[in-house]
Amino acid sequence: MPINRRDFLKFSAGAGLLAGAGVDSAVAATEKPPQLPKDAVGILYDATLCIGCMACMVNCKRTNAEPGGALYHREAEGQVPYEYPESGDAIYDAPLRLSGKTLCIIKAYRAEGDAVEPDAPHSSFIKQHCLHCIDPPCVSVCPVRALQKQSDTGIVTYNKHRCFGCRYCQVACPFGIPQFEWEKASPSIVKCQLCNHRLAQGKFSACCEFCPTGASIFGPVEELREEAKRRLALKPGDTYNYQVQHVDGRQRTEKVVSRYVDHIYGMDEAGGTQYLFLAGVEFNKLGFNPHISNEIYPRLTWSYISQVPALIGTLLVVGTVTRLVTQRIEKNKDANQKSTDEADAS
Ligand code: SF4
Ligand code: SF4
Ligand code: SF4
Repeated sequence: MPINRRDFLKFSAGAGLLAGAGVDSAVAATEKPPQLPKDAVGILYDATLCIGCMACMVNCKRTNAEPGGALYHREAEGQVPYEYPESGDAIYDAPLRLSGKTLCIIKAYRAEGDAVEPDAPHSSFIKQHCLHCIDPPCVSVCPVRALQKQSDTGIVTYNKHRCFGCRYCQVACPFGIPQFEWEKASPSIVKCQLCNHRLAQGKFSACCEFCPTGASIFGPVEELREEAKRRLALKPGDTYNYQVQHVDGRQRTEKVVSRYVDHIYGMDEAGGTQYLFLAGVEFNKLGFNPHISNEIYPRLTWSYISQVPALIGTLLVVGTVTRLVTQRIEKNKDANQKSTDEADAS
């Protein structure tokens, strides 16, 4: 018999599995209709302005490898997690997809064969990272609140110290965003956290900060939505003063307006997201899953995942124990290494 999320959480709490995890508020959050938080921030990516320079990817890696960043690891302090081709000269960071080392990626689309339309652009870039859903399914299914949606900014953050590696978030995300560090002894989930660690420093997302063309701009989601609507109302061939880096428009650049597909992706998809897209090429050609509906996904994913409560309970126990044991082994290794270093130095 299927159970609902509240029943499962009661079962888990009764078994002592979720002690201290604060799951009741997570239940309540999923039962309210999705609302944009008051100070919600996000990104507007306009593919018609993107030149594929990948400056966003480089700055994303650099700044997220700093303490507080989504790619920061104590054991790799000071190293940027670049990815090199498996063969050939390792001379260039060349990730092909999101991974445990890459939070944000630029992909290219080129029309070929029947896909070539005379009146549509034949190519486009597209930027992929977490969309910071308004009602995020990854948060909804995480049994230990390792993933949380910030109540003020709406940013979906991750706490690796809570995560026990069940990977339900990977199953639940309709956009295939969360990545797992398969290569590590104590793996974590990795995904964009909208440079949450930089906001306290008065900065904003690294990808937007380095974007030279205005293709990626940061700002309050309500303002980004208004800007996206303004752009859709522009006439191709006219000129427009596009914002650069931030929707506040302190920096602008004048450009000829390209043809837009008449849709703002992220306004409604999966219940709405804080990352919005405009493009000149149909979104399904740019790698967006055409089956993603405007439904509120936590309600769909939970009804699926809740069919297997026993499995979830087992995973919670096994995952938590494995994680604790692995962390203990790593701590011991660190301590042994430290005493060896001290002995060598004396
Ligand atoms: S895009 Fe995926 S990982 Fe990001 S908030 Fe939505 S469900 Fe979570
Ligand atoms: S792997 Fe499991 S515990 Fe970790 S963030 Fe994802 S859902 Fe939460
Ligand atoms: S920095 Fe801007 S223009 Fe360059 S690839 Fe990234 S989004 Fe496109």
